Amino acid sequence: MITTKTSKRSKRRRVKGFRDSEASKEGINPLTEKYWYQRYNLFSKYDQGIQMDEEGWFSVTPEEIAIKHAERCTDHQVVIDSFCGVGGNAIQFARKGCHVIAIDIDPAKVAMAMNNAKVYGVKEYIDFIVGDFFALAPSLKGDIVFLSPPWGGPSYKDIQIFTLELLKPTDGYALFQVAQAITPNIIMFLPRNINLAQVPELAWLSSPPLELEVESNYVQNHPKGVTLYFGSTAAFPPRFSSDYL
Ligand code: ADP
Repeated sequence: MITTKTSKRSKRRRVKGFRDSEASKEGINPLTEKYWYQRYNLFSKYDQGIQMDEEGWFSVTPEEIAIKHAERCTDHQVVIDSFCGVGGNAIQFARKGCHVIAIDIDPAKVAMAMNNAKVYGVKEYIDFIVGDFFALAPSLKGDIVFLSPPWGGPSYKDIQIFTLELLKPTDGYALFQVAQAITPNIIMFLPRNINLAQVPELAWLSSPPLELEVESNYVQNHPKGVTLYFGSTAAFPPRFSSDYL
């Protein structure tokens, strides 16, 4: 009984605390509040008019990691950001001097990505397309394909080992093959609990197998994901980051 009363009281306190908070005044809901506290890790220019929605909070790549991804492209290369969301990666590729084709199936996401690219002053270096990456892929040309496919929302953390089959809307192997038909130079950003045993199988889908590099990504010592670099985006000679040695 005591436990129930205490937990009800502390829940009321939490809800009141949230109602009074700056986040709530900005229209942030309790589900996304945790991400809001990390807003400057996601977009350092957050206060200059960045737009987000609930899915955006869950799925945008933290800026520090998006910058690392962008370091793998060189000036004037064309990068296809296949599931661009609110634009975190597209913006950093454009800041690095690349031309970006940013695709998302959700028109609201594309509108927010356009706004956010404007905040960073790189809108003119990005072609935004509202569409299904799988339908568009056969007509796309580019030097690098960036894949940050849906991980299934924050519940991916509850899974002990995230297998490539769990990626949405198709499994990781099928997705990789679609990208590979465009270019072997692929960057794939995946959950931190990805099944690493499956990763080399993606490189082996090509003959000879693609160069592969695996990098674990942290923000302030917290693991945020794993990046796979294939083809020319991988460091040469190929290496795995120290976590995997
Ligand atoms: P997560 O599960 O990681 O939260 P989301 O469900 O937010 O990922 O999906 C990431 C982004 O991919 C979203 O902006 C979503 O609209 C977009 N997306 C989903 N399917 C497709 C598709 N077939 N083509 C292009 N964009 C897509």
